[in-house]
Amino acid sequence: MTDFSLATHQLKASYGDAQVLFGVDWEINAGEVVGVLGANGAGKSTFLKTITGFLSCPRTQVTLNGDDIGHLSAGDIVKQGITMVPEGRRLFPSMSVKENLQVGAFSKRPGRWTLESVYKLFPILKEKRDVPATSLSGGQQQMVAIGRALMSNPRILLCDEISLGLAPVIVKDIYDKLPELTEDGMSIVVVEQDVGLAQQCSDRLYCFQEGRIALAGVSSTLSRDEITQAYFGI
Ligand code: ATP
Repeated sequence: MTDFSLATHQLKASYGDAQVLFGVDWEINAGEVVGVLGANGAGKSTFLKTITGFLSCPRTQVTLNGDDIGHLSAGDIVKQGITMVPEGRRLFPSMSVKENLQVGAFSKRPGRWTLESVYKLFPILKEKRDVPATSLSGGQQQMVAIGRALMSNPRILLCDEISLGLAPVIVKDIYDKLPELTEDGMSIVVVEQDVGLAQQCSDRLYCFQEGRIALAGVSSTLSRDEITQAYFGI
């Protein structure tokens, strides 16, 4: 995969009159895992929704390789190789595991991710491919949601709180797969409320507080105290 960079420049976002993001400068480069931390309501999901075209913003506030993409629709953003694993998974209840995965391929981007390579990553999904996706356990459903996103062959995978509500052992299983995902240069944004998890799995971290970046840096060099302070604003 070639070099690329997704960035936001003084990104602002609002719901009606309520402003939620207040000028976020942020970036991710090829092959990086970037953690986005923050308490409930800090603006993490809003940040992802804006990048992925579900919330509008001025065209210059989001760039991909220097080109403005802030004005693109959600469908066009996926075609650019930016795909989200949404909070709460949002699987199609009437569809089987296999059908849910196939939906992810609608953008027809070429690449390493096919049904077979997703099944290789998460073998349990091959076993369960013909059963309704929502009959699976929470962890297995999360694997379907990740697999569905991978089927679009993204350059950047945005994961919104994928650990939420899952047992620690399952969370570990899923996070242990991240290095395999980035080995061909794909980047991953990991939005988390769990400080330890985000710090452990990421190269760099951004900590959001009330719609602003309170802290940014290389994950291994940030202290737990610094992060906690930025997280809670104390
Ligand atoms: P969480 O971890 O709880 O998902 P978050 O950091 O992702 O939190 P957001 O969901 O982005 O935070 O919410 C940021 C702020 O925007 C909150 O004050 C929230 O109430 C508000 N908000 C989120 N979605 C909407 C919406 N659809 N309409 C109005 N306000 C919203």
